Amino acid sequence: MSSLNAFNDILQRDEPLAPYTWLRLGGPAQYLLTPRSVEELTRLVAVCHDEQIPIHILGGGSNILVKDEGVSGAVIRLTDPVFSHVQITGNLVRAGAGALLSHVISETVRAGLAGFENLAGIPGTIGGALCGNSGGRLGEVSQLVTSVTGLTTLGEQVVRGNDELSFDYRQSNLGDLLIIEAEFKLRPDNPDAIAQMLKQNWIAKKSVQPLSSQSAGCVFKNPRGQRAGQLIEQAGLKGTRVGGAEISERHANFIVTHPGAKSSDVVRLIDLIRSKIAEQFGVHLEPEIKLW
Ligand SMILES: Cc1cc2nc3c(=O)[nH]c(=O)nc-3n(C[C@H](O)[C@H](O)[C@H](O)COP(=O)(O)OP(=O)(O)OC[C@H]3O[C@@H](n4cnc5c(N)ncnc54)[C@H](O)[C@@H]3O)c2cc1C
Repeated sequence: MSSLNAFNDILQRDEPLAPYTWLRLGGPAQYLLTPRSVEELTRLVAVCHDEQIPIHILGGGSNILVKDEGVSGAVIRLTDPVFSHVQITGNLVRAGAGALLSHVISETVRAGLAGFENLAGIPGTIGGALCGNSGGRLGEVSQLVTSVTGLTTLGEQVVRGNDELSFDYRQSNLGDLLIIEAEFKLRPDNPDAIAQMLKQNWIAKKSVQPLSSQSAGCVFKNPRGQRAGQLIEQAGLKGTRVGGAEISERHANFIVTHPGAKSSDVVRLIDLIRSKIAEQFGVHLEPEIKLW
């Protein structure tokens, strides 16, 4: 594709995506690009728009399952340091979309700002967390964010303030934006107390989730008033295996993988779970992980 030749310095063709995802599965990206500035990213998005090249934004790859055949179009990673800054001014935090959530958590806890410790143990980046309104029992990222800066598909920079942001359980209205950075408003508190909370939250998360295995976190969203993991467990599906993919014995809403697993094994296991749960409980489980 000649139009992307201008980006040869930051372009890899047919680059396997598995190493960039937590499940370590799936085929290559037709084009994998790692822009070095907002200006370069903006040009890239504009060229992709003009050439009708689909764009996929890869964060930490902790909520994505890449198909075995790979992804056509441009996969963009915001791993350059220019996209992973964390600036703290008073109780306001500006963080680049490529900043690791874990880094933002530790920086804010160190600064004596409370809020992010509730997201302890969630892998991935700020961009990924905002896109899917990541969180859990203790809170969601939507409770902390005050504005989001991003690019439209045309490559225009926009800032969405609080009144234009809308979040729900594991979803946001940011799906049309390439998120570049965001601002968060936190609550000043005693650094030792926040650090203690962070430790407790981390231990609690570690005790229920198979964090040492390869997974992409919860596979399904919880249906209203129910827990997907509980339904899967009640259906007696824990430990069910398709090829190299297995429903975790530790947490039934996690699929873990074994050596030799294929992306298609995970897809088949997801389909099997959905049909069994629909059959037994009349509940239609909606995947939380994104299939690329
Ligand atoms: C062990 C484990 C535990 C987990 N626990 C939790 C949990 O407790 N709660 C929870 O909510 N999630 C959990 N997850 C899921 C996952 O970590 C979160 O969804 C995370 O926020 C995804 O971030 P990421 O950077 O890895 O995004 P990716 O997986 O790379 O991408 C996810 C989506 O976000 C989009 N995206 C990423 N960056 C941008 C950007 N800059 N602009 C626009 N779109 C973007 C992608 O295109 C994709 O659609 C867990 C996952 C694992 C593996």
